[in-house]
Amino acid sequence: MLVLGGGPAALCIASELHQRGVVVEGIAPDPVDAAWPNTYGIWVDELKALDLEHLIEHRWSDTVSYFGAGGSEAADQPLVHGIDYGLFDRAALQNHWLQRALGVVWHQDTADHLEVGADHTLVTCASGEVRKARAVIDASGAGSSHIRRPDQGPVAGQAAYGVVGRFSEAPISSGRFVLMDYRCNHLSEMQRLEPPTFLYAMDLGDGVFFVEETSLAWAPGVPYDVLKQRLQQRLDQRGVQITEVIHEEFCLFPMNLPLPDRSQPVLAFGGAASMVHPASGYMVGALLRRGSRLADALAAALADPSLGSVDLARRGWQALWPMELVLRHQLYQFGLGRLMGFNEQLLRRHFATFFSLPREDWFGFLTNTLPLPRLMAVMLRLFALSPWELRRGLVLGAEKRQEPGFRR
Ligand SMILES: Cc1cc2nc3c(=O)[nH]c(=O)nc-3n(C[C@H](O)[C@H](O)[C@H](O)COP(=O)(O)OP(=O)(O)OC[C@H]3O[C@@H](n4cnc5c(N)ncnc54)[C@H](O)[C@@H]3O)c2cc1C
Repeated sequence: MLVLGGGPAALCIASELHQRGVVVEGIAPDPVDAAWPNTYGIWVDELKALDLEHLIEHRWSDTVSYFGAGGSEAADQPLVHGIDYGLFDRAALQNHWLQRALGVVWHQDTADHLEVGADHTLVTCASGEVRKARAVIDASGAGSSHIRRPDQGPVAGQAAYGVVGRFSEAPISSGRFVLMDYRCNHLSEMQRLEPPTFLYAMDLGDGVFFVEETSLAWAPGVPYDVLKQRLQQRLDQRGVQITEVIHEEFCLFPMNLPLPDRSQPVLAFGGAASMVHPASGYMVGALLRRGSRLADALAAALADPSLGSVDLARRGWQALWPMELVLRHQLYQFGLGRLMGFNEQLLRRHFATFFSLPREDWFGFLTNTLPLPRLMAVMLRLFALSPWELRRGLVLGAEKRQEPGFRR
């Protein structure tokens, strides 16, 4: 098997296959032990279930969101999640997979062109090298040009601008993790008509905080200068200045990328396989949960020497995206489409209702761990709990918001 990429998805699937005795090689432009650019967060219970809690570097028990408008005691009340959140130790996660993939040969190169034959695939690399494999798994991220997917119109991106730094005073309560702070009383009337954004923030200890202004999903992605300005306004209102910038994060990735064409002869995994959760933007937990199932199916299929690239890819797609997961994905995409039509007031009400669901329901929804019938029941319950205006938006879609001036 040949795996394209050197990010979380590539390392995960290469290690799972190697653990099953499959001969794996990889192609990645950078050394596979080079530091990853992103920091990954996850609910700790997801890792507990996988016995991987030791991969966490920072952990918070004081986890909250704000869904009031702000500006009064009641509207500034945090909603307490009552569940721990963690940030991966990036190097530990990378090492976890690399250790399990010891023996996999990684070629430092870029896959330029794929040619799929009946029983093998040829990959032409930027260096001119041509590599041959029984099957290829494209784990080169959401922007891969090797994976076909239907055109369903503009793809919404999650965009964020963040700063890891020191501040004149704590920008959030010390020891706290803020999943979503949707308070908006620092914005002008005009700004409130634009796509809503929220603050994602955490206390990293030793006087260092991470604050990030985030747009859940919008097409096209909300520009960084808008996010930066909104973050500044938020901090100004709290009377907080940034005294040291340790790191700036510019984040943009697709939230509702259509599912790949599952009849194509090249398999994908991770962002390339549209595995990002369309409602939350999270994916690492899904890699850890779904990699083993895909590797089991591929290892079994590879044992049959009569199966070539086309058959192997078909088996892989069936294991990665069985009908149950396809239908769940469609429900999430439908939900995201509705949310993107909501103005900030409706969005705040929606999330307040969502997080009033029993913890196992909202947690299962956000981590995509509820079986389909239960997911449907949770969505119906959410609908039943919603005020009339929200129900109308969920069924019919909200009235079109004023086009924000910055979009073009
Ligand atoms: C800033 C940011 C923050 C995120 N935060 C979280 C989070 O907190 N929690 C979470 O669960 N998810 C998060 N995500 C979403 C998702 O988990 C990440 O996007 C994740 O990095 C996707 O992993 P991937 O391996 O599929 O792709 P990538 O991480 O994009 O890796 C792609 C790899 O393929 C290589 N590559 C590219 N082209 C080629 C080619 N032609 N040939 C060979 N190799 C190639 C690249 O060099 C890279 O190594 C975040 C995303 C971003 C952008």
